[in-house]
Amino acid sequence: MQFSDFGLDNSLMNTVAHLGFSEPTQIQQQAIPAAMAGHDLIASSKTGSGKTLAFIIPALQRLSKNRALSKRDPRVVILTPTRELAKQVFSQLRLFTSNTQFKAVLILGGENFNDQVKVLEKDPHFIVATPGRLADHLTQGHFYLNGLELLILDEADRMLDLGFSKELGQINKAADHRKRQTLLFSATLDHAQVNEFATELLRKPKRIAIEAGHTEHVDIAKRFYLADNLTQKEALLHHFLATEKSQQIIIFTATRSDTDRLAKLLTDTDLNAVALSGELNQGQRNQIMDSFAKGKHKILVTTDLASRGLDLINVSHVINFDMPKHTEEFVHRIGRTGRAGTKGDAISLVGPNDWLSFKNVEAFLQQKIIFTKVEGIKVKFKGLKPKKSKVVKAKSNTVKSKRPADTRPRKVIKKTFLDIEDAGAMKIIKRKKPLTPQQIESDTKKEQD
Ligand code: AMP
Repeated sequence: MQFSDFGLDNSLMNTVAHLGFSEPTQIQQQAIPAAMAGHDLIASSKTGSGKTLAFIIPALQRLSKNRALSKRDPRVVILTPTRELAKQVFSQLRLFTSNTQFKAVLILGGENFNDQVKVLEKDPHFIVATPGRLADHLTQGHFYLNGLELLILDEADRMLDLGFSKELGQINKAADHRKRQTLLFSATLDHAQVNEFATELLRKPKRIAIEAGHTEHVDIAKRFYLADNLTQKEALLHHFLATEKSQQIIIFTATRSDTDRLAKLLTDTDLNAVALSGELNQGQRNQIMDSFAKGKHKILVTTDLASRGLDLINVSHVINFDMPKHTEEFVHRIGRTGRAGTKGDAISLVGPNDWLSFKNVEAFLQQKIIFTKVEGIKVKFKGLKPKKSKVVKAKSNTVKSKRPADTRPRKVIKKTFLDIEDAGAMKIIKRKKPLTPQQIESDTKKEQD
């Protein structure tokens, strides 16, 4: 299949050709025609599979073919969980809009609010945003969504995991009309909240599942190394940095302080490393990402902050200095290499603190992992044995009460459908009748507020 088979608008085809793409990727082959036919979509696809263009292309096609529903309201809103991913999407979108009449803006949390108000006053056609900040502007009436034609949720699973369901609900409600089309992308479709959400937001969606999260990324060679402790992890890291044939490298650590410490350790040995720690302000983060993307640094040390969305073609190696806490993050981290058909290496260090996360990743990948060894680095750690649950002998642990047994008849409180015990506030809500889903939702909202 070729891009020319989609019957795209000429200017769109020119941009695709200019980018050097002739064959659509798998997700593009399925999502572009379905979205162009006006269907709502719920689609899963692995990271780096070309999903951004799978929604940008039909969005632009729709805008160039259809008349706007409103002169002032944005026509397309694209929401992403992180600022990094939003910037990535925005830069791909700009490649398509820069020579057109369509205005695209980027609205991110952590950036100047008033500047964004001015940008929104210019009535952009496209908004790429993180949900929290966009919902703030919506609440304050800086734009309206009555004329929205296309709502695109990128990495919806992650947005929900980050607790954006309220904001997504608000944005959805503000654009609640029959002409709206919704495209939902998620790393996995096997996510209860995503499915629940899809039922609420999407109308008769087409389901597209290209490759599940655990599918092997053939272009990324994964290696795992055991380590006794931090010192040994550092020795392994130095070994890789000295021996691997690499271009750019991203090193993932568990915490922000580890990020800074490790980057310092590397720069002290004259390596060109930079840390992307969460404590930096947005401007500083942008600066670091830009200079890394331009190849000014060889090594980027980061937490999961950079695990999604970054499209860095020159990253040959991802090193998990610490294993990720959330299993799916592993797929996103290693997806920073092996982009757009290039080959990549993913090296993971597994110490005693990483063991549980490692076992989860092993189960997720559905394969028995064999550890690789480095000559000269003697590792004693061989993994943790699963904990046996302690069988407590009732007799030896029972303290006999001196008080005579209470034999009075007891009033039985019937177990209700929902007993919420808020231990902090010592608040107990007991209900006589089972709750309706609406009541549950309203209670949950109150708890959150
Ligand atoms: P994404 O999964 O959207 O982050 O895209 C990953 C990378 O694939 C980006 O660098 C895109 O520019 C590139 N890409 C997207 N579509 C194609 C295509 N049809 N052929 C080759 N590369 C593509």
